[in-house]
Amino acid sequence: MTAATSVFVTEPGDGSVLAVQTHDLPDPGPGEVQVEVAAAGVNFIDVYKRQGVYPTPTPFVLGEEGAGTVVALGPGVTDHAVGDRVAWCQSSGSETTLTNKPVRALVRVPDGVDLEVAAAAMLQGLTAHYLVNSTYAVGPGDVALVHAAAGGVGQLLVQMIVAKCGTVVATAGSDAKLEIARSRGAQHLVNYSTVDDLAAAVRAAAGRGVDVAYDGVGRSTFDASLASLRPRGMMVLFGGASGQVPPFDIQRLNAGGSLYLTRPTLGHYVADRSEYEWRAGEVLGAIADGSLDIAVGGRYPLSEAAAAYEALEGRATTGKLILVPAA
Ligand code: NDP
Repeated sequence: MTAATSVFVTEPGDGSVLAVQTHDLPDPGPGEVQVEVAAAGVNFIDVYKRQGVYPTPTPFVLGEEGAGTVVALGPGVTDHAVGDRVAWCQSSGSETTLTNKPVRALVRVPDGVDLEVAAAAMLQGLTAHYLVNSTYAVGPGDVALVHAAAGGVGQLLVQMIVAKCGTVVATAGSDAKLEIARSRGAQHLVNYSTVDDLAAAVRAAAGRGVDVAYDGVGRSTFDASLASLRPRGMMVLFGGASGQVPPFDIQRLNAGGSLYLTRPTLGHYVADRSEYEWRAGEVLGAIADGSLDIAVGGRYPLSEAAAAYEALEGRATTGKLILVPAA
């Protein structure tokens, strides 16, 4: 038994329900290792869980991803050693100083990749990876619409699509954010805070309907995303930063041109251990060889977790926010 300090959600609600508390942590159980957490990633799924959109019994420790160093082994663990550098996503309770993780949740962090960068890369990096490789396999000549392109997932999508010789129409809520998207390789830029007809602006920028729309903004962009697609184009709704999309009349897919619509989530693309290792290996490997850059847009101590979420929800961020044990 030892002590850990964690960010708890005490009841569903806004940022005021977060409480940073020190508590007992048992020794790691069978199949688990104890990890000293170097950093945890701040994600929208944490907001949905805190709000109760994804109901979770309270109190619970927030955070789905992180990275750190193994400090103790549970019974039966032979494939890890004290001192291993590990990272994870899709594993709750990550906003803490010390945690017990099942080894099946962990991947190894390659030499040369900083633990804070690894923590920042896991959830959003594997998301961008499955979106461009598996949900719709982007290839040369494809034109992709990427909303919130200066955000965490957005910057990674832009880099990965450009690396596949695709063209990106990037949107964002300010010209400064669009400049970030441009610096990542986006060829066409649309400020959705200032255009009257977003779909028309996207089509004008692309010169045609786009092949795929990657939409993590949701409620405020969904209709325009659908209207931006070419016939038989793919609508990928992967989040709702502006709110969840209301119920949908399926006949709109017919009227829009035999469109496809999917609402994917990371868990279904990393459920298989070999798939998880493949995606994490490619993302962390690309960071190690310099072909993928992770923008850490903010670094907060655990004690200031509420401020990190306020910035994320308030559209005040670019890139990825992380929480660290102390500043
Ligand atoms: P971002 O860093 O992209 O932040 C969200 C951005 O969305 C904001 O910066 C803002 O950019 C834009 N936005 C537009 N309207 C609003 C609004 N009303 N409130 C808040 N933000 C708004 O976040 P993430 O990269 O962490 O996540 C992006 C999306 O991806 C989220 O919806 C998230 O849930 C989803 N996601 C889905 C996964 C999956 O597997 N399905 C996995 C991981 C993330 P701007 O100012 O430019 O408009």
